[in-house]
Amino acid sequence: MNNLMIEVPEMEAKRIFEVEKIRADFPILQREVNGKPLVYLDNAATTQKPQTVIDNMIHYYTFENANIHRGLHFLSELATESYEKARLKVKEHINAMSVAEIIFVRGATEAINLIATSFCRGGFYKAGDEIIVTQMEHHANIVPWQILSQKKDIKLRVIPINEKGEIIFEEFEKLISDKTKLVSVVHTSNALGTINPVYDIVRVAHKHNIPVLLDGAQAIVHNKIDVQKLDCDFYVFSGHKLYGPTGIGVLYGKAHILNSMPPYQGGGDMIRTVCFEGSTFDDLPHKFEAGTPNIVGGIGLGAAIDYLNQFDFEDISRHEKELLNYATQKLQEIPGLKIIGTAENKASVLSFTIKDIHPYDIGTIIDTHGIAIRTGHHCTQPTMKYFNVPATARASFAIYNTKQEVDKLFAGLLKVKKMFG
Ligand code: PLP
Repeated sequence: MNNLMIEVPEMEAKRIFEVEKIRADFPILQREVNGKPLVYLDNAATTQKPQTVIDNMIHYYTFENANIHRGLHFLSELATESYEKARLKVKEHINAMSVAEIIFVRGATEAINLIATSFCRGGFYKAGDEIIVTQMEHHANIVPWQILSQKKDIKLRVIPINEKGEIIFEEFEKLISDKTKLVSVVHTSNALGTINPVYDIVRVAHKHNIPVLLDGAQAIVHNKIDVQKLDCDFYVFSGHKLYGPTGIGVLYGKAHILNSMPPYQGGGDMIRTVCFEGSTFDDLPHKFEAGTPNIVGGIGLGAAIDYLNQFDFEDISRHEKELLNYATQKLQEIPGLKIIGTAENKASVLSFTIKDIHPYDIGTIIDTHGIAIRTGHHCTQPTMKYFNVPATARASFAIYNTKQEVDKLFAGLLKVKKMFG
């Protein structure tokens, strides 16, 4: 090569976003339910898995299965390499500073419980301290703090929301005081679809030196997350909502904070030395990963991240936004249907009620047409209480959904209406 030429690194070409081809990657979408082609619109609960995730997990059990970190034999080293590669993929996907900041856990719920437990054990709180959450939290970001409060007399302070399902930011600022020890808020609401102004929340909390935990269980699949840009102190999510397997999730934490926290569980793999007089603990991330982890889960999550990274996230966001707009417009044509959650900044989650029809009836009837939506309180009872409904029906859209599926949902809901006269 002419040494005057500058070598330009090749940009990785992204896969063209073609929904029919994407659908073909997900074997479950080819099946029927109740004699009808499956229309899967329960993606906020869990997403379906592409063949590559399934194949990687089968490959691990078929050719690589061994326990990790502890053996010097070939298979153990192979399994360790695959598992640690998955951690690296997560680190790169969310742009963490280092793999030490990526703790594998069971899911978003366990990640929040880990932080709550470790903070409590570490004496980070004193009686009367406060944690700020929002009215739209998932129970996973309410109950762990309440359990903690039974031990430490900690209070939850709640940022109120408006009728669109958006937080009232001025009220958030008013809640901050010298008692505030943590701001722990959902990035994207699973019940309403609201995308919270997390950059502003972090900025304001940090002005007062208060750390911020973001529950990214829903956001991770719709947006490209950059934890360094967000500057949040913790970010948690579950693999199964990101086209990966169940039983694996991620706690991201800034290294200096994780280093200051005591372990969550004790056992093998998280120690450096053990004797009956006491033990010393390993470095991050292992300090928080006691026992044999979900090795195949980590590998499956790594494969899911590879799958997603074939695409430009802008294409994913555009597709999901189009589905949301189309579905919002279409469903509003149904007399008596009310959308719950109409925030300006919203992910592809559509909660609704239909006058005089219980959401459970809606869900059960359209299931007979092969359409899967979720009905219930979506583990957000305080949100339901605010909107004065016991439950909603919820359709949530993913990378593989189509406008034709929205049409089927619309037709199914019209049939429900007809049945109820
Ligand atoms: N947070 C939010 C916003 C969620 O939607 C969910 C699950 O629905 C969770 C937390 C808990 O996730 P998991 O049950 O995977 O731990």
